[in-house]
Amino acid sequence: AWQATLSQLQSEMPKASFDTWVRSAELIKYQENIFVVGVHNAYARDWLDDRLGPTMSRLLSGMMGTRQEVQFNVWHKEIEAAGSDEPAEVRAPEPSRQNTNVNPRYTFENFVVGGSNRMAHAASQAVAENPARAYNPLFLYGSVGQGKTHLLQAIGNSAIKQGLQVLYVSSEEFANDLINSIRTHNTQAFRDRYRSIDVLLIDDIQFIAGKESTQEEFFHTFNTLHGQDKQIVISSDRPPKAMLTLEERLRSRFEWGLTVDIQPADLEMRTAILRSKAERANREVPPEILDSIARQVQSNIRELEGALTRVLAYADLSGKALTPDLVQVALADLLPQRSTLEPRQVVKLVASTFGLTAEKLLGRDRSREVALPRQVAMYILREEANVSLPQIGVALGGRDHSTVMYACEKVADLMERDDRLRRQVLQIREQLYSHAAA
Ligand code: ADP
Ligand code: MG
Repeated sequence: AWQATLSQLQSEMPKASFDTWVRSAELIKYQENIFVVGVHNAYARDWLDDRLGPTMSRLLSGMMGTRQEVQFNVWHKEIEAAGSDEPAEVRAPEPSRQNTNVNPRYTFENFVVGGSNRMAHAASQAVAENPARAYNPLFLYGSVGQGKTHLLQAIGNSAIKQGLQVLYVSSEEFANDLINSIRTHNTQAFRDRYRSIDVLLIDDIQFIAGKESTQEEFFHTFNTLHGQDKQIVISSDRPPKAMLTLEERLRSRFEWGLTVDIQPADLEMRTAILRSKAERANREVPPEILDSIARQVQSNIRELEGALTRVLAYADLSGKALTPDLVQVALADLLPQRSTLEPRQVVKLVASTFGLTAEKLLGRDRSREVALPRQVAMYILREEANVSLPQIGVALGGRDHSTVMYACEKVADLMERDDRLRRQVLQIREQLYSHAAA
């Protein structure tokens, strides 16, 4: 695969560049999807890393069918041959990946930019290039599956390359870490961990709404890092203003830097993302196929990627050509997912989310603790499943259709104001879909 990659590069690159940079590069070893390549000096290493690294790993990944990384090391053959086991100059050891939580898969390089995310992308890049000098904090918000985590991680990968200490966590992990540290009387270690880094990436901050001690601790973490000119990047499903149970002092800090939104990808961008995905997977996919998938899957980019994978797998497994008809067949189970949601399943999930039994939810109890969850179940069935109002009434233990209608309006209205409820509904929805997808 390595030789094939070199030949491919040779045929695509200007000869002079190839001779200067690539010809002398040698494969030193291959280990766990990493090609370690020796080059003669640091300059060559940096040049290759910048210009060719991504292309090489894409070519290799395509050839080998799994994600491959390329790592360039300065390496002198003579020294090695003379018996020294240390390469003359070894690239500074990469900060260990397991502590940063940053996934090398998400980079700026494979992020498609379009109208809906241009600002967010530009701001993230500015932050990655000049941590703590561009916008601090950077606050990104947008609905699910639109690339917030991808951008946070891309910033993280870029910062790691610059040798900075990076930590990526979701706000839930932050909260769990905190709780564990309190339980084990180890809050100092917690603080050391969170306050000794250069770049803190905190994902889905909306989940700290309503958690007072977490907010308190995060407030101090924020102040310490910000005060030491460390970069903070935050993502959320909504802007700071709409985080209702967020302490005012945190809200105002979130707005100190730059707040940017990511809008849902439009058709053009969805098509561009599919094209890029197909190219990266080294697959030839006719434009009308990409267009057809992009038109049908509008919800979010994660599902868009899933749809493409599914169509390709379908073609491979059935041995059929990629035609619009095949797309319909491949996506058939995926698209009308809404109608396949079983009311029983929704009832069960809603009940357990609110700590109730399904019987209780279907019963006659009118106290708020039971009535509200019941209304939530109606709301979710209304929004997510193709079930009529009377059918919902039947599924919920025999309510009439106006009760259902009232419930749906009430929940929709409450969700605008009650962050906790909104979160619970989001959570139920996500779980429903992750079950449906599994
Ligand atoms: P969010 O955190 O906003 O819910 P993610 O960042 O997890 O969304 O994105 C969902 C998936 O879509 C990921 O696999 C991500 O790589 C991909 N994705 C999102 N936006 C883009 C983009 N602009 N270009 C390429 N891939 C994208
Ligand atoms: Mg995310």
